[in-house]
Amino acid sequence: MNKLPINLPNIFENEHLYGYVSRLCLLNGILDSNSIQKGIMGCNKALAALPLFKESTHELAIFISDKFSLPLADVFTRHTLLGLFRHNIDPTVLRKVVAKDYSRKTVISLEQTEVYWGKAWRYCPCCVEEDKVQHGTAYWHVEHQLPTSLTCYKHVKTTLEYKCQKCGLVTTNLGCKPIPTAQCEKCGHTHESMSLHLNRDQKSIQESGFRLFNDTSNFDSSMQYYMLDVDSIVRSREDISESLELRYKELDDSFFDWLSESELTVYFGHDSSIGTVQSLRAHRMVRYSGRAKLLYVLLWQRYFYHLRQTAKQ
Ligand SMILES: [Zn+2]
Ligand SMILES: [Zn+2]
Repeated sequence: MNKLPINLPNIFENEHLYGYVSRLCLLNGILDSNSIQKGIMGCNKALAALPLFKESTHELAIFISDKFSLPLADVFTRHTLLGLFRHNIDPTVLRKVVAKDYSRKTVISLEQTEVYWGKAWRYCPCCVEEDKVQHGTAYWHVEHQLPTSLTCYKHVKTTLEYKCQKCGLVTTNLGCKPIPTAQCEKCGHTHESMSLHLNRDQKSIQESGFRLFNDTSNFDSSMQYYMLDVDSIVRSREDISESLELRYKELDDSFFDWLSESELTVYFGHDSSIGTVQSLRAHRMVRYSGRAKLLYVLLWQRYFYHLRQTAKQ
């Protein structure tokens, strides 16, 4: 890759690694960028963790690390969502992933977080305009892809956009939209930015996501955020049913009610479908403890915080 006569732009701070590749293809007039990107990035989903562990992505990260003198671990944690996902990956596995001699044998099983916009790349219309002025081009920001985020990390009242307001087109492949623009590539509609005032719970979840992503502690302490002892909480509660099975059911019911009241169902699209997200249920959080999805752990943590606050009153 080093020897190719290509125009190699600098990678922006906060630029997603895959966004960098798509911008590179655009700058160099590589027309078949769809298949190139598929080769490098696999399914090319912003929120999926698995493509990060493809060997081609790893080679790309090493290339970026050498070219721009960035530590390899930083390429992963600052330019991909591994910055967030690392909090539920075993530190010994994590160290292997960010090592130069990474081998495909390091198998990691991680699922995509089931958020409403889970397959879409998101952008902030205000950032698009500001980046054009400041850098001469818009680019895909990693922080806009955090599953915990509803609004922009810079423009806290601006909703992150993932689909065309007119035709509903969703960006799932950066080959079709190498840099974010407010104009729809299918119907030409120009997007207007929308504002959203986050309530206290939404704000708390969003800020937790930023905090985890920007956490600078070493990999060994990553797991601490993931400790959520749902089981002992269920067992210790005396105000609910005798049978453990019923306790879990009652806990789930009140948890889902609270999600609706706090408008945290926005992460899942609609209030009515929230009960169908099986992996959000308390017994699943216990069974998959340590592998549970980060957003779900944050939602449960916030719920327990809410219970403690109500108990005090
Ligand atoms: Zn913004
Ligand atoms: Zn459209």
